[in-house]
Parts: sequence; structure tokens; C-alpha cells
Amino acid sequence: MEYIRITTRVNENDLSEIIWSSIHEVGHALYELGIPDDNRGTPINQYCSMSIHESQSRLYENNLGRSEIFWKNEFHSLQNVFDRQLESVSAFDFYKGINRVRPSLIRTSADEITYHLHILVRFEIERDLIGGRLSTKDAKDAWNEKYEKYLSIVPKHDAEGILQDVHWSQGLFGYFPTYSLGSFYAAQFYAKATEKDNMKSAINSGNYDTLLDWLREHIHKLGRSFNAEELCQNVTGESLNLDYFVNYILAKYSEIYSARLN
Ligand SMILES: [Zn+2]
Repeated sequence: MEYIRITTRVNENDLSEIIWSSIHEVGHALYELGIPDDNRGTPINQYCSMSIHESQSRLYENNLGRSEIFWKNEFHSLQNVFDRQLESVSAFDFYKGINRVRPSLIRTSADEITYHLHILVRFEIERDLIGGRLSTKDAKDAWNEKYEKYLSIVPKHDAEGILQDVHWSQGLFGYFPTYSLGSFYAAQFYAKATEKDNMKSAINSGNYDTLLDWLREHIHKLGRSFNAEELCQNVTGESLNLDYFVNYILAKYSEIYSARLN
């Protein structure tokens, strides 16, 4: 029996942080647990790429964990724990509430759409720092200007601004785009995984093992036998294609907001 230790986020005033951070990290953990123990120490016995790693966490966090069907099945469990707070809330209203789209300052709690603007800010700053067009002392101003430009809000202090992530202090430059790429891979993998009726009916009935089995079979157990591009081609029959993410977002949010989004 193997164990994986995960970290999560807790905010005593906001339940959403622990729910979706935990689901996200479980997606990572399931991937690690699904990589075979054989050939330990070789490239095959490790994850494919960080974008593929993030695809597994984002798939669980968003495609499954923020879906209507998931909360139709699971909302009563949450209500049992938070009976006073949630007694007058329906599963559908909860689903709509957790998918509310609005500009925000903190990347990890952003909705699925504006999330990628948070990544864009970080990507542009990294690109300009590495390209010598921006100095570190000007990075904070660049951050605040970009939040104003892309999200129309400005942090009041650096804890909700440029200091909110651990990545740069750890030397992790170039990592942030894996979250967006992971989301795009996730949409494509999830579309493929759920194209068959047996998978749809399993998820509809609250059985998520069938999905895990599919991910194990098509992604986890392959480790780094293929690079991300080859893996995507093998699993879905085509290269990474942004249309899957766009179509997923259009279908989901046009229903939530009862609007045509195009
Ligand atoms: Zn992650």
C-alpha cells in the first residue's frame, strides 16, 4: 500500500478553498499512485510532464468537481455537515454559486474562466524578467498594472498581489502556464473519457471509479513512456486542441448564465 501526502488550503471564512484545493491535490495524488512501481528510478517510472500532472488535478477539480452532476450526487453530504448554513440552499443554486464568474485577486480561488488571466499576468512578467525588459524591483508595479488591465482590480497589499504564490520564491519560473495547459488537456481528456454512455451513466450515478480506471489505463500507467504531445495524440486521437476547453466553457456557462456566449 502506497501513501501520498498532500497539502491543502484552509480559510475559516471560506469553505470553497479547502474543498477545491483538496480535490485538486487528490487529482495529483491519484496520478502519482497510478504510476507503476516497475522500473523505479527510470524515466518511465515518473509523471509525463507538469502540464499532464496539472491536467489530472484540474480535471478532478473542475471538470468533475465543479460539475452539476457531481454536486447533484454529493451536495447532501456537505449539507449534513453544514446543515444550518446550507439547509435552504438547493444543489443547483450551490452549483451556480460555486461557478460564479467575477474578477478576483487570488489565483487559487479564481473561477475557471478568469483563472487564465491570472496565469497570463504571471507569464508576461516571467517573460519580461527573463528577457531583461523588466527588473525585479519593478515587478510589483507591473503586477498591479496587469491586474488592472486584465481583471480591472488592483491588490491593496502584496499578500493579495505579487507575494501570493510560493512559486517564484522557490525558483519555479515557467511553471504557471502548466496550469492553463493542464486545464486545456483536462477538457480534451474529459471529453474523450465521457464520450461513451457507460462512463456518463457511472458518473451520473455517483460512481467515479470508472473515470479513475480510464485515467489509470490511458494516462497514469504510462508514466513518461511518451511526451505530453504524444500522449495527447494517443489518448484523444489529436494534438492539444483548445476547442475542447472553449466548447466546455461555452456549454457550461451559457447554461449557468442562461445566455448565448460566443
Ligand atoms: Zn496542481
